[in-house]
Amino acid sequence: MQLDHPSSDKIRSIKQLRLQLLSLTKELNKTTEQLQLLELHEIGSDQPHDENIHPEEISELIRKQNKISHEIITVKKRIQKLSAKTILKVELIVLPILAILLFYGTTNHYQTNILDPTDPLKTRYLIENLQGQAGDTYKHWNIAENTPLTVSIVNPDHLSQEKINVIKEAILSTTPMHINNDLLGKSPQDGTSEYYEGWKGALNTIKGTEFYVPNQFSVIESDSGPGQIVIVLSHLEDPDGYSGYTRSVVDDSQILKSFITIYDADKLSDNRLAAVVRHEFGHALGLPHANDPQDLMHATIQTNYPYISECDITAVQSLYDGNTDGNAYCRTNS
Ligand SMILES: [Zn+2]
Repeated sequence: MQLDHPSSDKIRSIKQLRLQLLSLTKELNKTTEQLQLLELHEIGSDQPHDENIHPEEISELIRKQNKISHEIITVKKRIQKLSAKTILKVELIVLPILAILLFYGTTNHYQTNILDPTDPLKTRYLIENLQGQAGDTYKHWNIAENTPLTVSIVNPDHLSQEKINVIKEAILSTTPMHINNDLLGKSPQDGTSEYYEGWKGALNTIKGTEFYVPNQFSVIESDSGPGQIVIVLSHLEDPDGYSGYTRSVVDDSQILKSFITIYDADKLSDNRLAAVVRHEFGHALGLPHANDPQDLMHATIQTNYPYISECDITAVQSLYDGNTDGNAYCRTNS
Protein backbone atom coordinates (compact mmCIF):
# COMPACT_ATOMS: atom_id res chain seq x y z
CA MET A 1 0.00 0.00 0.00
CA GLN A 2 1.33 3.38 -0.91
CA LEU A 3 0.15 6.68 0.42
CA ASP A 4 0.70 9.28 -2.22
CA HIS A 5 1.49 12.84 -1.50
CA PRO A 6 -1.56 14.69 -2.66
CA SER A 7 -0.77 16.79 -5.70
CA SER A 8 -1.37 20.49 -5.30
CA ASP A 9 -3.93 20.35 -8.12
CA LYS A 10 -5.88 17.78 -6.23
CA ILE A 11 -5.78 19.81 -3.04
CA ARG A 12 -6.95 22.87 -4.93
CA SER A 13 -9.88 20.98 -6.49
CA ILE A 14 -10.83 19.55 -3.13
CA LYS A 15 -10.71 23.03 -1.58
CA GLN A 16 -12.93 24.41 -4.31
CA LEU A 17 -15.39 21.58 -3.92
CA ARG A 18 -15.47 22.08 -0.19
CA LEU A 19 -16.21 25.78 -0.64
CA GLN A 20 -18.98 24.84 -3.03
CA LEU A 21 -20.25 22.38 -0.47
CA LEU A 22 -20.19 25.01 2.22
CA SER A 23 -22.30 27.41 0.16
CA LEU A 24 -24.67 24.61 -0.83
CA THR A 25 -25.08 23.63 2.79
CA LYS A 26 -25.84 27.24 3.71
CA GLU A 27 -28.37 27.45 0.92
CA LEU A 28 -29.96 24.21 2.03
CA ASN A 29 -30.22 25.46 5.61
CA LYS A 30 -31.82 28.69 4.39
CA THR A 31 -34.32 26.83 2.22
CA THR A 32 -35.17 24.45 5.03
CA GLU A 33 -35.68 27.40 7.35
CA GLN A 34 -38.01 29.14 4.87
CA LEU A 35 -39.91 25.94 4.40
CA GLN A 36 -40.26 25.37 8.13
CA LEU A 37 -41.51 28.94 8.60
CA LEU A 38 -44.08 28.52 5.87
CA GLU A 39 -45.23 25.19 7.25
CA LEU A 40 -45.48 26.60 10.76
CA HIS A 41 -47.48 29.44 9.39
CA GLU A 42 -49.81 27.03 7.64
CA ILE A 43 -50.30 24.92 10.79
CA GLY A 44 -50.94 28.04 12.84
CA SER A 45 -53.50 29.29 10.38
CA ASP A 46 -57.21 28.49 10.74
CA GLN A 47 -57.72 28.35 7.08
CA PRO A 48 -55.69 25.81 5.22
CA HIS A 49 -55.66 28.09 2.23
CA ASP A 50 -54.76 31.29 3.90
CA GLU A 51 -54.27 34.04 1.39
CA ASN A 52 -50.73 34.51 2.54
CA ILE A 53 -49.85 30.88 2.02
CA HIS A 54 -48.96 29.75 -1.42
CA PRO A 55 -48.83 25.96 -1.74
CA GLU A 56 -46.81 26.49 -4.92
CA GLU A 57 -44.29 28.33 -2.85
CA ILE A 58 -43.97 25.33 -0.52
CA SER A 59 -43.64 22.81 -3.32
CA GLU A 60 -41.18 25.11 -5.03
CA LEU A 61 -39.11 25.20 -1.85
CA ILE A 62 -39.30 21.43 -1.50
CA ARG A 63 -38.10 21.06 -5.07
CA LYS A 64 -35.28 23.45 -4.34
CA GLN A 65 -34.43 21.53 -1.17
CA ASN A 66 -34.24 18.27 -3.10
CA LYS A 67 -32.16 19.82 -5.83
CA ILE A 68 -29.64 21.21 -3.36
CA SER A 69 -29.50 17.91 -1.45
CA HIS A 70 -28.80 16.16 -4.70
CA GLU A 71 -26.04 18.63 -5.56
CA ILE A 72 -24.55 18.18 -2.09
CA ILE A 73 -24.39 14.43 -2.58
CA THR A 74 -22.74 14.88 -5.97
CA VAL A 75 -20.14 17.27 -4.57
CA LYS A 76 -19.47 14.95 -1.61
CA LYS A 77 -18.97 12.05 -3.97
CA ARG A 78 -16.51 14.07 -6.02
CA ILE A 79 -14.61 15.04 -2.87
CA GLN A 80 -14.54 11.44 -1.72
CA LYS A 81 -13.26 10.32 -5.09
CA LEU A 82 -10.56 12.98 -5.16
CA SER A 83 -9.49 12.34 -1.61
CA ALA A 84 -9.51 8.57 -1.89
CA LYS A 85 -5.74 8.59 -1.68
CA THR A 86 -5.35 11.80 0.23
CA ILE A 87 -5.35 12.38 3.93
CA LEU A 88 -7.19 15.56 4.63
CA LYS A 89 -7.44 17.80 7.57
CA VAL A 90 -11.15 17.88 8.17
CA GLU A 91 -12.72 20.97 9.61
CA LEU A 92 -14.94 19.28 12.10
CA ILE A 93 -16.36 22.46 13.49
CA VAL A 94 -17.34 24.10 10.22
CA LEU A 95 -19.16 21.20 8.66
CA PRO A 96 -20.05 18.57 11.19
CA ILE A 97 -22.21 16.44 8.91
CA LEU A 98 -19.85 16.69 6.02
CA ALA A 99 -17.00 15.93 8.37
CA ILE A 100 -18.42 12.53 9.18
CA LEU A 101 -18.79 11.70 5.53
CA LEU A 102 -15.38 13.06 4.68
CA PHE A 103 -13.81 11.24 7.55
CA TYR A 104 -15.01 7.93 6.21
CA GLY A 105 -14.15 8.98 2.70
CA THR A 106 -10.59 9.91 3.54
CA THR A 107 -9.82 7.12 5.91
CA ASN A 108 -11.36 4.27 3.98
CA HIS A 109 -8.05 3.09 2.65
CA TYR A 110 -6.74 3.12 6.18
CA GLN A 111 -9.55 1.30 7.87
CA THR A 112 -8.11 -2.03 6.97
CA ASN A 113 -4.86 -1.02 8.62
CA ILE A 114 -6.12 0.31 11.86
CA LEU A 115 -5.60 -1.92 14.83
CA ASP A 116 -8.25 -1.98 17.47
CA PRO A 117 -6.68 0.13 20.24
CA THR A 118 -8.76 -1.70 22.82
CA ASP A 119 -7.21 -4.93 21.66
CA PRO A 120 -3.45 -4.34 21.55
CA LEU A 121 -1.14 -7.08 20.40
CA LYS A 122 1.05 -8.38 23.20
CA THR A 123 4.56 -9.47 22.34
CA ARG A 124 7.63 -10.71 24.17
CA TYR A 125 11.14 -11.69 23.32
CA LEU A 126 14.05 -13.52 24.79
CA ILE A 127 17.76 -13.48 24.13
CA GLU A 128 19.65 -16.54 25.24
CA ASN A 129 23.17 -17.83 24.84
CA LEU A 130 24.26 -21.25 23.62
CA GLN A 131 24.01 -22.59 27.16
CA GLY A 132 20.36 -21.60 27.19
CA GLN A 133 20.90 -18.79 29.70
CA ALA A 134 18.75 -15.74 29.19
CA GLY A 135 20.56 -12.46 28.85
CA ASP A 136 19.72 -8.84 28.40
CA THR A 137 22.56 -7.89 26.13
CA TYR A 138 21.71 -6.76 22.66
CA LYS A 139 23.24 -8.48 19.71
CA HIS A 140 23.16 -8.02 15.99
CA TRP A 141 23.84 -10.24 13.02
CA ASN A 142 27.44 -10.37 11.94
CA ILE A 143 27.36 -11.68 8.41
CA ALA A 144 29.44 -10.93 5.34
CA GLU A 145 28.27 -8.10 3.16
CA ASN A 146 25.58 -8.93 0.60
CA THR A 147 24.90 -12.31 2.14
CA PRO A 148 21.18 -12.95 2.25
CA LEU A 149 19.59 -14.14 5.46
CA THR A 150 17.38 -17.15 4.94
CA VAL A 151 13.98 -16.77 6.52
CA SER A 152 11.89 -19.91 6.62
CA ILE A 153 8.18 -19.92 7.26
CA VAL A 154 6.95 -23.03 9.03
CA ASN A 155 3.26 -23.46 8.36
CA PRO A 156 2.09 -26.79 9.77
CA ASP A 157 -1.56 -25.77 9.82
CA HIS A 158 -1.55 -24.74 6.19
CA LEU A 159 -2.51 -21.13 6.49
CA SER A 160 -3.60 -19.70 3.16
CA GLN A 161 -1.13 -18.38 0.63
CA GLU A 162 -2.69 -14.99 1.17
CA LYS A 163 -1.49 -15.03 4.79
CA ILE A 164 1.96 -16.17 3.70
CA ASN A 165 2.07 -13.24 1.30
CA VAL A 166 1.15 -10.87 4.14
CA ILE A 167 4.16 -12.18 6.06
CA LYS A 168 6.45 -11.88 3.06
CA GLU A 169 5.33 -8.31 2.47
CA ALA A 170 6.12 -7.34 6.07
CA ILE A 171 9.69 -8.47 5.41
CA LEU A 172 10.27 -7.77 1.73
CA SER A 173 8.22 -4.69 0.90
CA THR A 174 10.26 -1.63 0.02
CA THR A 175 7.26 0.69 -0.07
CA PRO A 176 7.74 3.91 1.86
CA MET A 177 4.69 5.61 3.31
CA HIS A 178 4.21 9.23 4.26
CA ILE A 179 1.75 9.86 7.02
CA ASN A 180 0.63 13.33 8.00
CA ASN A 181 2.05 14.39 11.33
CA ASP A 182 -1.22 15.81 12.56
CA LEU A 183 -2.66 12.30 12.40
CA LEU A 184 0.27 11.02 14.41
CA GLY A 185 0.25 13.82 16.97
CA LYS A 186 3.79 14.72 15.94
CA SER A 187 5.36 18.02 15.02
CA PRO A 188 5.65 19.88 12.76
CA GLN A 189 1.92 19.44 12.28
CA ASP A 190 1.98 20.25 8.58
CA GLY A 191 4.80 17.82 7.89
CA THR A 192 4.80 14.11 7.20
CA SER A 193 6.66 11.18 8.71
CA GLU A 194 8.15 8.38 6.69
CA TYR A 195 7.38 4.77 7.47
CA TYR A 196 8.05 1.47 5.77
CA GLU A 197 5.70 -1.38 5.24
CA GLY A 198 8.50 -3.93 5.04
CA TRP A 199 11.91 -4.30 6.66
CA LYS A 200 13.79 -4.56 3.39
CA GLY A 201 12.77 -1.03 2.41
CA ALA A 202 13.58 0.30 5.88
CA LEU A 203 16.98 -1.40 6.05
CA ASN A 204 17.93 -0.26 2.55
CA THR A 205 18.04 3.30 3.89
CA ILE A 206 20.84 2.48 6.32
CA LYS A 207 24.34 3.03 4.99
CA GLY A 208 27.85 2.83 6.30
CA THR A 209 27.39 1.08 9.62
CA GLU A 210 30.25 -0.70 11.35
CA PHE A 211 28.57 -4.08 10.93
CA TYR A 212 26.69 -5.03 7.80
CA VAL A 213 22.95 -4.57 8.19
CA PRO A 214 21.23 -7.54 6.54
CA ASN A 215 18.94 -6.24 3.83
CA GLN A 216 18.62 -9.25 1.58
CA PHE A 217 16.30 -11.97 2.62
CA SER A 218 15.55 -15.26 1.03
CA VAL A 219 12.10 -16.13 2.30
CA ILE A 220 11.16 -19.77 1.88
CA GLU A 221 8.42 -22.07 3.11
CA SER A 222 9.76 -25.15 4.78
CA ASP A 223 8.51 -27.29 7.59
CA SER A 224 12.00 -28.17 8.75
CA GLY A 225 12.84 -24.55 9.49
CA PRO A 226 16.28 -24.12 8.00
CA GLY A 227 18.00 -20.76 7.79
CA GLN A 228 18.78 -18.03 10.26
CA ILE A 229 15.28 -16.74 11.00
CA VAL A 230 12.42 -19.18 11.47
CA ILE A 231 8.82 -18.01 11.61
CA VAL A 232 6.46 -20.60 13.05
CA LEU A 233 2.78 -20.02 12.44
CA SER A 234 0.91 -21.65 15.26
CA HIS A 235 -2.81 -22.13 15.49
CA LEU A 236 -2.41 -22.39 19.25
CA GLU A 237 -3.36 -19.58 21.54
CA ASP A 238 -0.66 -18.45 23.94
CA PRO A 239 -1.91 -19.02 27.51
CA ASP A 240 -0.73 -15.53 28.48
CA GLY A 241 -2.36 -13.90 25.50
CA TYR A 242 0.77 -13.10 23.54
CA SER A 243 0.46 -12.81 19.78
CA GLY A 244 4.14 -12.92 19.01
CA TYR A 245 7.28 -14.26 20.61
CA THR A 246 10.86 -14.06 19.41
CA ARG A 247 13.70 -16.06 20.86
CA SER A 248 17.18 -15.29 19.62
CA VAL A 249 20.14 -17.51 20.26
CA VAL A 250 23.34 -15.50 20.50
CA ASP A 251 26.97 -16.04 21.24
CA ASP A 252 29.41 -13.44 22.48
CA SER A 253 29.43 -11.40 19.35
CA GLN A 254 26.35 -12.04 17.29
CA ILE A 255 22.88 -13.44 16.74
CA LEU A 256 23.09 -17.04 15.55
CA LYS A 257 19.45 -17.86 15.00
CA SER A 258 16.06 -16.30 15.70
CA PHE A 259 12.82 -18.16 16.24
CA ILE A 260 9.62 -16.22 15.81
CA THR A 261 6.33 -17.75 16.89
CA ILE A 262 3.06 -16.18 15.83
CA TYR A 263 0.23 -17.47 18.01
CA ASP A 264 -3.31 -17.87 16.84
CA ALA A 265 -2.02 -17.06 13.39
CA ASP A 266 -5.11 -18.36 11.62
CA LYS A 267 -7.36 -16.01 13.58
CA LEU A 268 -5.35 -12.82 13.17
CA SER A 269 -6.60 -10.42 10.51
CA ASP A 270 -4.12 -9.67 7.75
CA ASN A 271 -3.26 -6.31 9.26
CA ARG A 272 -2.72 -7.67 12.74
CA LEU A 273 -0.66 -10.51 11.34
CA ALA A 274 1.49 -8.05 9.37
CA ALA A 275 1.93 -5.86 12.46
CA VAL A 276 3.08 -8.77 14.63
CA VAL A 277 5.46 -10.07 11.97
CA ARG A 278 6.92 -6.58 11.46
CA HIS A 279 7.42 -6.23 15.21
CA GLU A 280 8.92 -9.68 15.80
CA PHE A 281 11.18 -9.32 12.80
CA GLY A 282 12.52 -6.18 14.46
CA HIS A 283 13.51 -8.36 17.43
CA ALA A 284 15.00 -10.92 15.07
CA LEU A 285 17.24 -8.15 13.72
CA GLY A 286 18.30 -7.40 17.28
CA LEU A 287 15.97 -4.60 18.38
CA PRO A 288 14.62 -4.39 21.91
CA HIS A 289 11.31 -2.71 22.73
CA ALA A 290 10.68 0.98 22.15
CA ASN A 291 9.37 3.15 24.96
CA ASP A 292 6.94 5.06 22.76
CA PRO A 293 3.50 3.39 22.87
CA GLN A 294 2.90 4.75 19.38
CA ASP A 295 5.85 2.89 17.92
CA LEU A 296 5.75 -0.47 16.16
CA MET A 297 8.43 -1.77 18.54
CA HIS A 298 6.49 -1.01 21.71
CA ALA A 299 5.93 -4.18 23.75
CA THR A 300 2.21 -4.00 23.11
CA ILE A 301 1.45 -2.94 19.58
CA GLN A 302 -1.29 -0.37 19.91
CA THR A 303 -0.51 2.21 17.27
CA ASN A 304 -2.83 2.86 14.35
CA TYR A 305 0.28 2.96 12.19
CA PRO A 306 2.15 -0.28 12.91
CA TYR A 307 4.87 0.38 10.37
CA ILE A 308 8.64 0.67 10.63
CA SER A 309 9.39 4.18 11.85
CA GLU A 310 12.39 6.43 11.38
CA CYS A 311 12.96 5.85 15.09
CA ASP A 312 13.19 2.07 14.54
CA ILE A 313 15.56 2.57 11.62
CA THR A 314 17.82 4.79 13.74
CA ALA A 315 17.82 2.10 16.43
CA VAL A 316 18.94 -0.56 13.93
CA GLN A 317 21.64 1.79 12.69
CA SER A 318 22.89 2.37 16.21
CA LEU A 319 22.85 -1.36 17.01
CA TYR A 320 24.87 -2.20 13.90
CA ASP A 321 27.28 0.58 14.78
CA GLY A 322 28.13 -1.53 17.78
CA ASN A 323 25.96 0.11 20.45
CA THR A 324 24.92 -3.05 22.20
CA ASP A 325 24.64 -1.57 25.68
CA GLY A 326 20.90 -1.19 25.40
CA ASN A 327 20.93 2.35 24.06
CA ALA A 328 20.06 1.20 20.61
CA TYR A 329 16.35 1.38 20.94
CA CYS A 330 13.67 3.69 19.75
CA ARG A 331 12.67 6.18 22.39
CA THR A 332 10.86 9.45 22.40
CA ASN A 333 12.46 12.59 23.68
CA SER A 334 9.30 13.86 25.24
ZN1 LIG B 1 8.19 -7.48 21.33
